[in-house]
Amino acid sequence: MATSTVEQYIKVLYQLESRTGQRVSTQQLADALGVTPGTATVMLKHLSEIHLVDYQSRKGGRLSQEGKDMALRLLRYHRLIETFLFKTLGYDWSEIHEEAEVLEHAVSERFIQRIDQLLGHPRIDPHGDPIPSESGEMITPNTVLLSDIPSGTECRIARIRNTEPDFLRLLFSQGVTPGSVLQVVQNIPAAESITLRSSEMSRDFALSYQLAKQILVEG
Ligand SMILES: [Zn+2]
Repeated sequence: MATSTVEQYIKVLYQLESRTGQRVSTQQLADALGVTPGTATVMLKHLSEIHLVDYQSRKGGRLSQEGKDMALRLLRYHRLIETFLFKTLGYDWSEIHEEAEVLEHAVSERFIQRIDQLLGHPRIDPHGDPIPSESGEMITPNTVLLSDIPSGTECRIARIRNTEPDFLRLLFSQGVTPGSVLQVVQNIPAAESITLRSSEMSRDFALSYQLAKQILVEG
């Protein structure tokens, strides 16, 4: 089995598990990866044989400690690479996720350590996501959904959960990046829409709740 395939499964298992706190079913895993349940089952059995996953048929899989360590290492690689591409190589904010998805499976620990050093051991990446330390510790700040912020309130952007290039370009053009301060001009739950004003832009702009839920602000 290709290393990158194993790593992709481990990453997705980690995401699904941390979202629900539960064992991941074969169906959930298959849906998330766009494969058939049969393929996901074969893979879960393989990951169980190499001790990365604790798998029980019908109940699904859960990462072992070894599996969790691997997931955190991959997150560290991914987020450090994104920071490096953005800050050092001058990549556009919207391009770095796709590039890091490929590179994270190819770089060595030594390379990552050098990047980490060069960047001064950053704790968050350009999307506002926390970067695990070498020992796997991660500081996750308290955040709330932008859609929950009432009218007339000022808030600071902490994290963008969506990595779609078009969405990120839109946010960037409106001055919405981690660290920027926004005023919620109007929040209308009945219309599921929120109108925002950034300190850098002269015009207000509206977002649907669907998009506003992808943006986390400091809690
Ligand atoms: Zn990313």
